[in-house]
Amino acid sequence: MKRAFVIGHPIKHSRSPLIHGHWLAEHVIDGSYEAIDVAPADLPAFLDRIRSGEFVGGNVTVPHKEDVFRLVDFSDVDTVHLGAFNTLIGQPTQTGIGIYGTNTDLYGFLANLDAGAPGWSDGLENAIVLGAGGAARAVAAALSLRTTGNTYVLNRTIERAEVLCADLRGNLRPAALDRFAELAPSAGLVVNTTTIGMHGTRFDGLALDRLPKSALVTDIVYVPLETPLLADARALGLRTVDGLCMLLHQAVPGFEAWFGVRPEVTPALRAKIEATL
Ligand code: NAP
Repeated sequence: MKRAFVIGHPIKHSRSPLIHGHWLAEHVIDGSYEAIDVAPADLPAFLDRIRSGEFVGGNVTVPHKEDVFRLVDFSDVDTVHLGAFNTLIGQPTQTGIGIYGTNTDLYGFLANLDAGAPGWSDGLENAIVLGAGGAARAVAAALSLRTTGNTYVLNRTIERAEVLCADLRGNLRPAALDRFAELAPSAGLVVNTTTIGMHGTRFDGLALDRLPKSALVTDIVYVPLETPLLADARALGLRTVDGLCMLLHQAVPGFEAWFGVRPEVTPALRAKIEATL
């Protein structure tokens, strides 16, 4: 039986076992996907359980994403510049099994918008990313592949936005959050990657009314499903896409690598996860 995992500390909140369990049952696969609490000090020893063949791989969440980056044996060249991995895959080598690290948030973010707002990047010039944390890196990298103009990374701590833009490729521009009103009129897309929106919190005085009427607003926070940012954007008649299906789509490449079947993000899966929010 093939065994996969999600590790974090704590890990009880993770919805990943529900997602992968749904696909294992759907495809009648003899496999398992377990949530395992791994303390930071135990991380190197835990990863050896992939090298020994006990696990085929797994997902990694807070606080281990940056640490596993330094502990894997090979890296995905397309996501290595993000500085963090959320997916580990055991791969045969000449001497045994090595660990391949990749970051599927970039794929998940793009796949969510492609499914939720088809054609969203056709003719897209400028975009605004709110936040410069771990998730913002994947989002900014994704947008640098799909925009023809600039992606502005606005963060409360401007230095963090500056480091992000320097680390990643593409036309990324750091800015302070208070420049939103000035940059909004030329932005076709706004993405929230900050933790604002969780527990109903909202941005203070974000001038969404300065955006073009054609702009798309999306939030990667998915609890609540409709964040105050999305509600405000919808009230202004702007298009919106919520962040739940980013979580579902980012799980696809890992499942395919571990279990050999490319699973689908279906309305039934979304409904199952939505019921847990
Ligand atoms: P993180 O690395 O801790 O970054 C947090 C970001 O939020 C930073 O930019 C931080 O700004 C900003 N922030 C926090 N409180 C703020 C405030 N009061 N005012 C202004 N900015 C504030 O977190 P992360 O890992 O990037 O995750 C961010 C969110 O994305 C989480 O809610 C996570 O659940 C969600 N997420 C969703 C998905 C998905 O699949 N949908 C995937 C990944 C993450 P400073 O730099 O100034 O502190």
